[in-house]
Amino acid sequence: MCRFSGKTRDRRSMVRETPGLRIITLGCKVNQYESAYMRSALMEQGWVEAKKGMECQLTIVNTCTVTQRAAHQSRQAISKAVREKPAGGKVVVTGCYAQVCPEEVASIAGVDMVVGNREKARLPEIVSEPLKDRAPVVLVGDIQDQVNMEPMPVRRFFDRSRAFLKIQDGCDSFCTYCIVPYARGRPRSLTPKEVLAMLGTLQEEGYGEVVLTGIHLGKYGWDKGGAHGLLQLLKLIKTSDLRLRIRLSSLEPGEITEGLIEMVAGEDWLCPHFHIPLQSGDPGVLQRMGRHYSPEEFAALVVRIREKMPLAAIGVDVMAGFPGEDEQAFSNTRSLVEALPISYLHVFPFSPRRGTKASRLPGQLSPQTIKERAAQLRELGLRKKRAFYESAVGHTFVALTETRPPERPGFMRGFTENYLDALFPLEKGREGQILKIRIEGVEDGMALAQVLRSG
Ligand code: SF4
Repeated sequence: MCRFSGKTRDRRSMVRETPGLRIITLGCKVNQYESAYMRSALMEQGWVEAKKGMECQLTIVNTCTVTQRAAHQSRQAISKAVREKPAGGKVVVTGCYAQVCPEEVASIAGVDMVVGNREKARLPEIVSEPLKDRAPVVLVGDIQDQVNMEPMPVRRFFDRSRAFLKIQDGCDSFCTYCIVPYARGRPRSLTPKEVLAMLGTLQEEGYGEVVLTGIHLGKYGWDKGGAHGLLQLLKLIKTSDLRLRIRLSSLEPGEITEGLIEMVAGEDWLCPHFHIPLQSGDPGVLQRMGRHYSPEEFAALVVRIREKMPLAAIGVDVMAGFPGEDEQAFSNTRSLVEALPISYLHVFPFSPRRGTKASRLPGQLSPQTIKERAAQLRELGLRKKRAFYESAVGHTFVALTETRPPERPGFMRGFTENYLDALFPLEKGREGQILKIRIEGVEDGMALAQVLRSG
């Protein structure tokens, strides 16, 4: 039951009582973005980030539930926050686990508030509510009723030169292994006007690159009618006076259209970087996963991107050990990945998530088999990554300078437009700049480069 009354309390008296804030984030980039939003909104109210050893009056645990293991880790993080809570402190739990299992979260002794994904945009206001009694306050509405996306503006990301912008939320694909549609609700998007305004703010703040993210980014604008899709948004960004480098996060294979490939290939402010979930190279497994493409279609897409952009980063998600994945099906996945010119692999061992169709499918594999298959795919992924980095030697790219690794004095670390993790000699104080670099070699999984000139 929603007990939020909408009243706020005097912020100054609250801050006097509550010196420290800590946000613990589990899960994906979208959760990280939302934590950054909560952090910056609460700091504007006067909260300070609790340093190590500092008393922490407000702890927010932003949970994940994508797998059974993620839910378990979320419970562990909540229990730790409760154990460390000082007298008069608050533990507030939000995120996908709180949305899907609010009663389970509320039953953890010491939790003060459970706030759903639907209420997350208002969380900085909600946490100011005084607690009425010792029972946890549960504010978790039906996420499926949410039709509009509430903007969560973030001005500053701590310790980063690269900014993120969540422009889409929700998914209605209902892949059989995935709980996300239940945790995030139906697809909804920011308006193009909101996106341009938020990009403008990030540019003013001095960011050189923004990663556009969403739960199902390829469905950006679908809730607003056909004329407002991702490609149309990119065309609007092109005609605006923004001078940012834009990177796209994960896109489903069917949503990477010819128009999008052409646009990425033709615009130097758009990073030639695609992250595409394959999940399996076996048609039967794909069908049981509820994924609507064939291995051949996936392969043709990767080849088309590679033809247009020979050095584009093409990252692929793959799942090991889905129910019914026999030796042949696994071998089909391995052979497809082996044959494709991809740049890196993210491997997910299948984990049956309670509440999903896949958790009830026959043919569940033993944890040992899943582990072994995941290890084989990871090894293959490392070989792919090495080959991709080696193919970049001798070529020039544009890197965004990020951090100075303490183990390499005199060097800067930065990511190129095609997501090469590069290391190059550069003096202090030049973080957040765009520089032209040439890759000279590969060492310990990183590209070693020389700076050619400022971009
Ligand atoms: S597309 Fe499939 S895997 Fe991705 S969030 Fe939606 S249901 Fe989950």
